Amino acid sequence: MWTEELCYDLGRRIFRDCRLRLGTVTTDAAGMLPDALDHALTRAADADARTAFVYLTPTHHNPTGRTMPTARRRSLLEVAARHELLIVEDDAYAELPLTEGRTPPPSLAALAGYRRVIRLCSFSKTLGPGLRVGWLLTDRALAVRLASHGLFVSGGSLNHTTSLAVSTLL
Ligand SMILES: *Cc1c(COP(=O)(O)O)cnc(C)c1O
Repeated sequence: MWTEELCYDLGRRIFRDCRLRLGTVTTDAAGMLPDALDHALTRAADADARTAFVYLTPTHHNPTGRTMPTARRRSLLEVAARHELLIVEDDAYAELPLTEGRTPPPSLAALAGYRRVIRLCSFSKTLGPGLRVGWLLTDRALAVRLASHGLFVSGGSLNHTTSLAVSTLL
């Protein structure tokens, strides 16, 4: 899998704990560089290394705080589509009004029509980190595949009681 040079430290740690091999892709002020991602994926394919996904935090990036402009998002999606790459978009900060009146760009998932992008959202930054509840958005086939995981089938979610409380609040 691939990440930005700087990325959410706990995300990196969780991926390592899942025994994923992490490669980093060069970034500039606008975020991950599409050409650098293209080269990384081409090199990996030439070496017969399977890429599971690329992990990105395009909006209010942790730790840099940067938001990727729409044009960069589109360029990255073009590269991803060419390589049939799955993108995991960590959008933990999407619900926070951090841009002082300016609307943040559309999510990568929305720009891609939710194809081959899994958008991760969390109640940790809005309601409270101790809830351990979030949600994801992706295309139907992938959502069904993810929801059929034994963890979710057993009780309907990872955190059934809290999910019910949050859903009642909403
Ligand atoms: C805080 C944060 C999260 C929150 O994750 P939870 O497991 O839902 O608490 C996820 N991603 C990033 C980048 C964060 O900063």
